[in-house]
Order: sequence, then C-alpha cells, then structure tokens
Amino acid sequence: MTAVAVGTTRSHHWIAANSFRVRLAAFALVGIPIALHVLPRQPGPLFWTLFLVQFFAYPHILSWLSQRARNHEKAEHNNLIVDSLASGAWAAGLGFPLWISVALFLAALLNHTITLGRKGILVCVLSICVGALASTTVIAFHVSTDTDGLVTLTSIIGLAVYLSLMGIEFFSYIRRLHEVQDAVDEQKRTLETANHALQQQIVKINDLQEKLREQANRDSLTGLFNRRYLEGTLERELARCKRENVPLTMLLLDIDHFKLVNDTYGHQAGDEVLRVFARALQESARTEDIVCRYGGEEFLLVLPKMPLNIARGRATQLLDLFRRTTVSFENSRIPVTTSIGIAAVPDHATGVESLIRCADQALYRAKSTGRDRAVAFNEA
Ligand code: GH3
Ligand code: MG
Ligand code: MG
Repeated sequence: MTAVAVGTTRSHHWIAANSFRVRLAAFALVGIPIALHVLPRQPGPLFWTLFLVQFFAYPHILSWLSQRARNHEKAEHNNLIVDSLASGAWAAGLGFPLWISVALFLAALLNHTITLGRKGILVCVLSICVGALASTTVIAFHVSTDTDGLVTLTSIIGLAVYLSLMGIEFFSYIRRLHEVQDAVDEQKRTLETANHALQQQIVKINDLQEKLREQANRDSLTGLFNRRYLEGTLERELARCKRENVPLTMLLLDIDHFKLVNDTYGHQAGDEVLRVFARALQESARTEDIVCRYGGEEFLLVLPKMPLNIARGRATQLLDLFRRTTVSFENSRIPVTTSIGIAAVPDHATGVESLIRCADQALYRAKSTGRDRAVAFNEA
C-alpha cells in the first residue's frame, strides 16, 4: 500500500510530513493481513527481516530521503512509484492473495490518481507490473488467491481504515485551502480599501500641489501674478510674439506718492489702495494680458500683440480710470493717481531685460515730468 503526496505549493516539509504519516499508517495496516497470511507457512528470519524493513522501517527511510531532497514534491512523486513497485512485488511474491492484492492495488491507484491525475493510473499500473515482474525473478511465479477469513477481514478493515484516513486528510486539506482563500479575500478587501484611500489622498495631494503652484505664482495681498510668475512667462510670451511677428508692449505703473498715503492714512489704508488698484487693473485687462504686481506699489501690464500707439491709448484710459477712483477706507476717501512708463518690442527693445529697462526709464521720465501721466520710452 502507498501514501498520499498531495501536489501543493505549501511548505515542502508539509508534503513530506503528510506523506510520512499516511505511508506509515498504510504499510502498518496492510502489514497485519500479510503477517497473518504467511504465519501458517512459518517463513524464516530472512522473510521477517524483509517484512519489518518494508512495513515499519521503509516509511521512515522514504521520509528521511524526501526531506533531504532539493525538490520535495518531485521526491514524493518518486516515492509513490517506489510504493507501487513494492506493492506489486509483495502481491506477486505472495502469489496474488485476493484481498491483500485488492487492498495493495486500490491504495496505490488512489494515491497515484490523487497526485498525478489520469496519468497516475498508467504510472501506477506500470509500476505495479514492474514490481510484480521483478519479484518473479527472485520468487518463482505462482498464483494462490485464497485467503482465510481473518486475513480477508483484516485486509478489508485495513483498506477501510486507510480510505477513512485519506478522507480525513483531504477534509482538513480542503478546509485549510478555504481558510487560506478566506484570508486572501480579506487581505484583498483590505488592500482595496487602502488603495481607495490612497487614490483619494493622491487626488487631495494633486489639488494641494495645484493650489501651492498657483499660490507660488500669486501675490497674497492683491491676488495678481507675482514677479516670479512674470519671469517665467514674459520670456515665453515675447518669443511667441516674435515668432508670430506681432508687437508686445509693456506698461510699468507706479502709484504716485504712495508713501504719503501710508503716512497719512496708515499702512492698512495703503494696502486697501493696492487692492483696489490691482482689481481695477485686472478688470480692465484682456484675456491675453498679463497683470502682475512687480514690486511694492509697482505694477506691470504685459500686452501681447498690442502695438505702441494702441498701448498709449490704453495707458491714457488707465490714468483716467485711476483719477476717477477714490479708495474708501474707514472715514477717508483716498485719491489715487499713477505714472506709467511704456516700452514696446520691437520699437524700443528686443529682449525681456532691455524691455523692462526701457519701461523703467520711461516711468522715471513720467515721474520727473510731473507724475499722473504716461510716457513712452524715448518720447520727448
Ligand atoms: P513716487 O510717486 O515717486 O512713486 O513716490 P512713492 O511714495 O509712491 O514711492 P516710494 O518708493 O518713495 O514709496 C513707496 C512706498 O510703498 C514705500 C513702502 O513702504 C510702500 N509699500 C510697499 N509695499 C507696500 C505694501 O504692501 N503695503 C503698503 N501699505 N505699503 C507698501
Ligand atoms: Mg515705486
Ligand atoms: Mg510710487
């Protein structure tokens, strides 16, 4: 009789331990009817030595070999073949006693099919035949199928006990599989929940990053773009206008006597003026214009695709707008005027730095010639 080696990827040690237990039980169970069968024939010590080795030492030897093997699963497949060879040899050696042979054959067949599937039938039958043939080279071929009642009974009981052991073994194996499956499902659910939470975190982080990027480019007091943003954008805008062969004009605005506003009405009033000024500037801008707070009370208006003469008109409109604007703060109404320096590409400059320099010089002229006015670079 042979043992079960269930094909599994659990630990190798588990395969070896499982096979050992079942093999030990199987050989002990079939050893009893064999011993009872041969006892009346009074075999010599050689037979009993062989008997003890086969039915009691053999499972230990195979287990030891299997545990030493590099591939325990393959080793157990080979052990099954050795089991069947031995079963064939014992059946033939004893002259094919019916119930003993049935028990040996059925157990071997069961173990092979469980381990190898359909292929197991062929392997089992072949191994048993080879075992039987090998045995007839030592003991002359003879057939004596009769077994007495006790031997028949112990063979049937042995087979029944063995089948029950197999059933129990498989029951616990399948239960373990289900437990593992449940644990895997649980892990999967946990992972899915964690993944969902992670996705939400990623969305939040992306939003936050977007906000941070936006904040990094904005002035906190007025909400306009800051100088940092301008540095990155102006170069690009200018390159685009050059590529498209269209002009780009810049207005540099500076609130007049702003220090006086602070000194007269307080710093908070000054802040309010900056906010109102910025809002008015932003509202007057086209979509393609870039409005930016360039410094304390200096603002920069970039007007892509706008020629110098149109920009001049635009500056005049802005001057008017600020003249008409009075900023209310607490009980005060604060008048605001501004000076504007104008510079254009390609009229005055070709690059960003020279354009700003030209606008700055024009603004200086506007200040020095009386404020509340717009002056273009190189304008008399
Ligand atoms: P000018 O007509 O020549 O431009 O004179 P001005 O007083 O406007 O210019 P000046 O450069 O002398 O003063 C600018 C002032 O703007 C000084 C500074 O304290 C104030 N300032 C800069 N940033 C802020 C701000 O964020 N809030 C307030 N309230 N004041 C600011
Ligand atoms: Mg200034
Ligand atoms: Mg000023």
